[in-house]
Amino acid sequence: MVNTPLLISQMVERAEKFFPNKQVVSRTSAGIQRFTYKEFGERTRKLASALAKLGVEKGERIGTLGWNHHRHLEAYFAIPGIGAVLHTINIRLSPEHIIYIINHAEDKVLLIDDDFLPLIEKVKDQLTSVEAFIVMSDKEELPETSLSPVYSYEELIKDGDAKFEFVTDLDENDPAGMCYTSATTGNPKGVLYSHRAIVLHSLVLGLADTGAISERDTIMPVVPMFHVNAWGLPFASVWFGSNIVLPGPFFTPKILVELLESEKVTLSAGVPTIWLGVAKELEEGNYDLSSVRGLLCGGSAAPKGLIKTFEKTFNIPFMHAYGMTETTPLALAAKLKSEHDELPEEERYDLKAKQGILVPGIEMKVIGQNGEVAWDGKEMGELCLRGPWIASEYHNDERTKEAFKDGWLHTGDVVTVDEHGFVKIVDRTKDLIKSGGEWISSVDLENALMAHEAVFEAAVIAVPHEKWQERPVACVVLKDAYKDKVTKEELIDFLKPQFAKWWLPDELIFMDEIPKTSVGKFLKRALREQVKGMLSG
Ligand code: ADP
Repeated sequence: MVNTPLLISQMVERAEKFFPNKQVVSRTSAGIQRFTYKEFGERTRKLASALAKLGVEKGERIGTLGWNHHRHLEAYFAIPGIGAVLHTINIRLSPEHIIYIINHAEDKVLLIDDDFLPLIEKVKDQLTSVEAFIVMSDKEELPETSLSPVYSYEELIKDGDAKFEFVTDLDENDPAGMCYTSATTGNPKGVLYSHRAIVLHSLVLGLADTGAISERDTIMPVVPMFHVNAWGLPFASVWFGSNIVLPGPFFTPKILVELLESEKVTLSAGVPTIWLGVAKELEEGNYDLSSVRGLLCGGSAAPKGLIKTFEKTFNIPFMHAYGMTETTPLALAAKLKSEHDELPEEERYDLKAKQGILVPGIEMKVIGQNGEVAWDGKEMGELCLRGPWIASEYHNDERTKEAFKDGWLHTGDVVTVDEHGFVKIVDRTKDLIKSGGEWISSVDLENALMAHEAVFEAAVIAVPHEKWQERPVACVVLKDAYKDKVTKEELIDFLKPQFAKWWLPDELIFMDEIPKTSVGKFLKRALREQVKGMLSG
């Protein structure tokens, strides 16, 4: 076979050639903007030429601080298109962590949404590698800013070369992207994605039993483009010629539902919190979402109740998937097999609430206390992964040796595997509740609580206990209509038939909100602190 490299620039070329009329729909502060893939290709080439003119060289990192919009999409392809590395920066990290990762990645240029100018202006003197700033704004003229040297994205594009040839003198193993993942303690850890990893991962998003993405799709990634490449959806959408809808800044569930409806979106993706909000909106409003053929959900466990609500109440197929920054991210997908067709409905939903089976192309093993666990749905062990889109190290980071051993990524996720091969995340190693030497899964308790009609969100955490070492405490947000109408005792009674007695939470606390991480997952560290204060006070 001809050993041609797998490169991201090939994705743009395919979109330009075969799908010039398909669309990028972008919601920005200026409203909805539309570009064909022909226009997208030209703008991307212009940006690539402008970056090359600024002196960006192969292998150098370019940071982006942006929402999901067309300029960010152009940067996704222009940066690897000149052999540089797209470093998407999580805008919701603390300023200290943002400074750390920009310096650690040695970003040479930063592309910044005008919304984030104040943030970068404040920290600019602490940035050690940045040589230029480019402001992504709907306005052509630059806003007032203390950054220097600073350029307007649209001005640069105007003067760019629409026929610029992407750099092809690259090895497919060269880095194309980079993303930092938050660590439990200490600074975020950086993962470099190669061209090869991103291209192979995109192919898998097109498989019938995973994302099944095709040219007929209109894809709306709600998952941020600063979080694991929006799960790779921008790459797959452009490559396969699907329309892509980018929901922009400060969206609400209502805005998302309106976009799903008006743009006739077929597939969308986001974390469970997004879909909880969308479900609430759908319950209250009157929408036609008949175009939607699937919702992808990952990042944290999708509660069974949520999956059921979408599939049974709204008739929208819901697919649970699992991955992490270190896995580009897709590793597991919960698509039922043909052998499950005859199972009773509840059992099918139990399977759908698991994280699913391994996608083709990568390998897994689950290591428990006595080596690899039995596939009995009971024995717990740590999920380990390896393969062409699984990282092998953290970028210039000593913590590499904690997570990468013998060629395997040790995910830090404790799982069981059932006889169907369906993996279930029981907990993060750090979130498991260890009561009297036995493990209690916070995720199981959360899912059970969230299946109660009155519960909007529930997070279960461990609190220290003199006798049992740790005990579970549940934090519950009730749906508005049920506030002050449901008691703690009712919710604990609801759990009783489903769990052994010693699993039941010792305490149940009603809250207005559960603290979330930068990407909408429960922030258990902060919750533990909050609850400690509440219980001792
Ligand atoms: P961060 O630590 O910044 O949240 P990631 O987004 O990479 O970083 O998080 C990956 C982790 O998210 C996984 O290790 C796992 O614990 C959790 N996770 C991802 N998808 C799922 C899922 N479908 N169900 C349960 N947990 C999930």
